[in-house]
Amino acid sequence: MRKKFVAGNWKMNKTISEARQLVAELQPLLEPLHNIDRAVCPTSLALPAVADMLADSEIGVGAQNMYWEESGAFTGELAPAMVAEICQYVIIGHSERRQFFGETDESVNRKVKAALAHGLTPIVCIGESLEENQAGQTAAVVSRQVRGGLADLSPEQGAKLVIAYEPIWAIGTGLAATPEDANAIHRDVVRPALAEIFGDDVAQRIQIQYGGSVKPDNAAAFFAQSDIDGALVGGASLKAAAFEGIAKAAAEA
Ligand code: PEP
Repeated sequence: MRKKFVAGNWKMNKTISEARQLVAELQPLLEPLHNIDRAVCPTSLALPAVADMLADSEIGVGAQNMYWEESGAFTGELAPAMVAEICQYVIIGHSERRQFFGETDESVNRKVKAALAHGLTPIVCIGESLEENQAGQTAAVVSRQVRGGLADLSPEQGAKLVIAYEPIWAIGTGLAATPEDANAIHRDVVRPALAEIFGDDVAQRIQIQYGGSVKPDNAAAFFAQSDIDGALVGGASLKAAAFEGIAKAAAEA
């Protein structure tokens, strides 16, 4: 039985003081939900403050990105060891990184390997664009992203991954995929691709989150699906009550 996992991707929102305020509101609401995994992913600037506040908490902390090199002349980047010092998770290959910052399946693969080498749990994002969806290419795109992003990993490494299926057209649009359609991608495309790479036992253990306009009022329908193991939440993770609503739906699923 896979545990549900709800993670908040705050993107480029919240100053350090706003991040502290949100965690102060969120922590008492999320802390009692022991039967699910939960995490917040603030900006890199706010990470130390948030990690300090959640040091003795079950609520995990994640970075939104990192580089794969160990250290050196890479202006503006975060090294894996820096992230691993204060985080448990790192989001890798979010569609906004692929769209605006030129990330590819190959760079995702390098980052995933670096994250695992430093004991971080990568939340690996995949998902098709509207054009790809309308052209009937969803399964092909998502399988390519899984195979490329996770190339050359062992089953032991595979067991440490989290996948987030996030159709790009559903992100921040208020236009979520239907729970049934999302589940079909998780069950019939993503998990079989994971099984081909890592074997069925490992594939059955990997949490596959759905992301894209998840809100308190649609979350339960997603979490009732066989292969939707939680959510990566953008907009609705910026308000304590909304994120609590989604986390509670996961805890009650
Ligand atoms: C995201 O960016 O990961 C996301 C799912 O955003 P939203 O929930 O706002 O659609």
